[in-house]
Amino acid sequence: MTAPRLEIDLEKIQHNARVLVQRLAPHGVSVTGVTKACLGSPEIAGAMVRAGVQGIGDSRIENIEAMRRAGIQAPMTLIRSPMPSQTDRIVAAADISLNTEVDVIAMLDTAARRAGTTHGVVLMVELGDLREGIMPSDVVAIAQKVLCFPNIVLKGIGTNLACRSGVSPDAENMAELSVLAESVESATGVPLDIISGGNSANLSWIFGGADTGRINELRLGESILLGCEPLIGEPIDGLFSDAFTLVAEVVESKIKPSKPWGEIAGFTTEVQAQFGDRGQITQSILAIGHQDTYPDGLSAPPGIAILDATSDHLVIDSGDIHTPVGAEIRFQPNYAALVRSMTSPFVTKAMKGQGESVVPGKISQIEAPNGFITPIVPQPAPRSAIGLSAPG
Ligand SMILES: *Cc1c(COP(=O)(O)O)cnc(C)c1O
Repeated sequence: MTAPRLEIDLEKIQHNARVLVQRLAPHGVSVTGVTKACLGSPEIAGAMVRAGVQGIGDSRIENIEAMRRAGIQAPMTLIRSPMPSQTDRIVAAADISLNTEVDVIAMLDTAARRAGTTHGVVLMVELGDLREGIMPSDVVAIAQKVLCFPNIVLKGIGTNLACRSGVSPDAENMAELSVLAESVESATGVPLDIISGGNSANLSWIFGGADTGRINELRLGESILLGCEPLIGEPIDGLFSDAFTLVAEVVESKIKPSKPWGEIAGFTTEVQAQFGDRGQITQSILAIGHQDTYPDGLSAPPGIAILDATSDHLVIDSGDIHTPVGAEIRFQPNYAALVRSMTSPFVTKAMKGQGESVVPGKISQIEAPNGFITPIVPQPAPRSAIGLSAPG
């Protein structure tokens, strides 16, 4: 099969989502499955829906539109603050969006009126991470304004921590969100459906036996897709951390010196002296690079060390492992590597374990010997992968 490719085990993703849905239910917390790291894949969204998530969230309207076209029926939430230029598309494809700006909500109201529909709004509250959010002291006043828009439904409030500054969800900030929910309800007399406590970084807090107060929803991406808790970076007990495997192919395999020679530009002689000389090594080049993934986010198999990466090459020391040209090496991607590989047009996506297909017959497939299925889908137009950092 062609490389590089991302092998995606839909049954493992479905298992992860189901376990998280079941573990959160006793806490009165439901799950919105977040697909932003997988280019809004309808197959992955379908696996999450079969596992019992109550809705799907994505940061990009393009992804939400693609899932809608593919027949995903679950409620859809746009989890990034809407762009004013996209409000017509947002009210058409998404049921709810997370918002912080009254001016944008006014535009969503106008767009919804034009479209003869209504649009749900969750107001995001700033609780210290300093990414999106209304300052807590302004939440009640803004909720009152939102209630004046005839085509907007105030669905609830939420927050997002641990994405920009790494601020952890804890008893204090989560209790503050609950208190704010009560304040909005008592000031407006309108009950809130959704109190969205955060993302995968909230799991340690909840499973640590926290009082969840009014929090009744989490938006989970990384924990479902990679079985990983982002704060400590540890695998979550009982979940698969290998639902995604990135496979790359060897195009050069040689014994070479470990230390470069010649005049070396760009480094002082002191730095150059630090280039260790480990003698001769077994160096292989894989045909994968920054255009295909985030090389720093790859875990290599035991015995293989990643030495360097350029746009198109990954240089490895394969030690005692025989890696002739044509050999395939399998890596586990972290969240940043996953998002870059999912969005790279150069990486083939091979799905396994489709279960009941979301849209029967929509995607034609070839079956490979190892059971992975390569969907024959038009490649997306190349888009820039430059400047992408860790999602979240
Ligand atoms: C990315 C994101 C999530 C999901 O985060 P994970 O760490 O992948 O669970 C939830 N909410 C918002 C607003 C996000 O941007």
